Amino acid sequence: MFEKKNRFPTLLLLVVLLLATEGWGAALSLSAPLAMGTAVWLQVVDVPPGARLTGTLNGVAFPFTTGHRALLSLDMEAKPGTALLRVAVEPPQGKPEILTQDCLVTQRVYQEEPITLAKEKVDLAPEVLTRAAQETAAIAATYQRRGGRVGYADGFQQPVQGRFSGVFGSRRILNGQPRKPHNGVDIAAPQGTPVVAMASGTVALVGRDYFFTGNTLALDHGDGIISLYAHLESVAVQPGEWVTGGTVIGTVGMTGRATGPHLHWGVLVRNDRVDPVLLPGIRAEGP
Ligand SMILES: [Zn+2]
Repeated sequence: MFEKKNRFPTLLLLVVLLLATEGWGAALSLSAPLAMGTAVWLQVVDVPPGARLTGTLNGVAFPFTTGHRALLSLDMEAKPGTALLRVAVEPPQGKPEILTQDCLVTQRVYQEEPITLAKEKVDLAPEVLTRAAQETAAIAATYQRRGGRVGYADGFQQPVQGRFSGVFGSRRILNGQPRKPHNGVDIAAPQGTPVVAMASGTVALVGRDYFFTGNTLALDHGDGIISLYAHLESVAVQPGEWVTGGTVIGTVGMTGRATGPHLHWGVLVRNDRVDPVLLPGIRAEGP
């Protein structure tokens, strides 16, 4: 009897020693496979209390948000191959634990989309080109924002419901001239349909009547996550304003270079162009 009673503490000591040498058993879990032009949640599970997390994807550091999660992304034109995910879990005491995962990134094939527009809308006059370049630069500047208040941790929602009239990544051929790939999705909806914020964020840009994108809105969701809403009929928010996810920020229109009322919705994650429809939590149907 006496001997049997003593066995349990010995076993416990053995387990503690094993944990101390083998780490705490934290593990990496992705919400979906990491693919070209996608953003997925990384969840680190079984993190010891008080541990500090740091991570890199292909050697580039990414930030963690609440719940031991991070939004990982690959640009639409990222190289296929193996993406190396590395996370360091540093408990307040004891050895840091290094977790790694090789993510196989396959080539994604994007479709070609021939578009025909009136000649004057494609072959632009020099003054129009200058103006459009300034507007494009203003939009691009919002993509460089970092350190904004974090609003994406609660997840994402589609800003407007409707038919997908333009898919992500399609290579556009405008009147026979190849153009940049489509870095967002187009959702057709009646003029005046309310558009909501895909997540909480700070209004980074309100562009009025831009040549290409018409009335244009950019939201900064923190950690370099930016969403873009274009061709709006009206804008309901001011630059610098904080909006919560799901709040009406404007209405669907066809301002700028648009052939019908629709929302162009784009998402960047630290400059990676990702498919908004494939964001975690957005319905899987779509393009
Ligand atoms: Zn578009």
